[in-house]
Amino acid sequence: MKVIDLINNRKKTLFSIEIVPPLRGNKVEGIYQRIEQLIEFQPAFINITYHKDEATYSQLKNGKIIKRTISKRPGTVALTASIMNKYKVEVVPHLTCGGFSRDQAENALIDFNFLGIENLLVLQGDAGRGQDVFIPDPDGHRYAVELVEQVMNMNKGKYLDENLEQANPSNFCVGVAGYPEKHYAAASLESDIQYLKAKVLAGAEYIITQMFFDNKHYFDFVQKCRAAGITVPIIPGLKPIALLDQVEVLPRLFHLEIPEDLKKEIKKCKDNKEALEVGTHWSIEQAKELINQGAPVLHFYTLGAGSSIRKIAEEIF
Ligand code: FAD
Repeated sequence: MKVIDLINNRKKTLFSIEIVPPLRGNKVEGIYQRIEQLIEFQPAFINITYHKDEATYSQLKNGKIIKRTISKRPGTVALTASIMNKYKVEVVPHLTCGGFSRDQAENALIDFNFLGIENLLVLQGDAGRGQDVFIPDPDGHRYAVELVEQVMNMNKGKYLDENLEQANPSNFCVGVAGYPEKHYAAASLESDIQYLKAKVLAGAEYIITQMFFDNKHYFDFVQKCRAAGITVPIIPGLKPIALLDQVEVLPRLFHLEIPEDLKKEIKKCKDNKEALEVGTHWSIEQAKELINQGAPVLHFYTLGAGSSIRKIAEEIF
């Protein structure tokens, strides 16, 4: 079922999770274990992230440097299909501009379509390693809105080759990302929201937000989006802090603020176990308030946080 239909038919706030494919060389069983920790809470859908290939350099014994291009976390498409089949749950693979030319993006869409996948989260993708800003692939899209347009064209049976006649239309429901504390590259929150609106006008049916730790950011963001004419559901993304150093690392990686109260509580912790307890409690309070205020879905980022999300789900869902 399409995510937008799940949202529209909900009787209460839904639960969803994001899974990151295993690092190259690791087993898939770790992912299944994480899902099995959470499946009893009936996630409405499970997102699977996508990670583009990165260049790596290594030195041979003869001193020669060789360049290889590999994905550290391959397997998004296979994982999507296997989780759908194994757990009979809706799975939403992420599709990024980065890593794909337009033709390769079309091939990926054909694969998803043949696999019976109806949902996609469409993104620009992270900047490459060592790059400050996102650099598109040759003949690839620069902004997520362009990829949303490509998916919507395919939904109308319009493929890249204009000579293809009576091409099979796909039927994807597309979600996009939003940033309550502004995307790092945006000049202002207002301009960021205008670009977000463009993604919705292009056909995106819902928004999932970057993680935030102060609900005020989400409530203000929703208000500003509504004032700008964005009417689609806005799903809050949540991540419980699970490690002491995340109060420093998360703001640096994701350009967000950790509230002073949370920072103080984490700094009082003597180890990661205590930090996880504080982070879990904070997330439970965030979740309760978001549900009370009518959030359509609570979307949890599970990387490194599986056990705390189980505790949160036991309390909330
Ligand atoms: P866009 O919507 O393209 O926006 C990027 C920036 O460009 C913003 O600053 C925006 O204001 C600006 N902008 C947009 N359109 C225009 C325009 N027409 N002209 C000028 N400026 C414009 N990354 C991955 O690599 N893989 C993943 O699986 C992944 N999953 C994610 C899931 C979620 C829920 C979130 C919130 C992020 C995820 N990311 C992922 C990270 C994401 O790819 C990065 O944050 C990326 O930098 C921005 O992606 P976007 O789709 O929001 O970009």
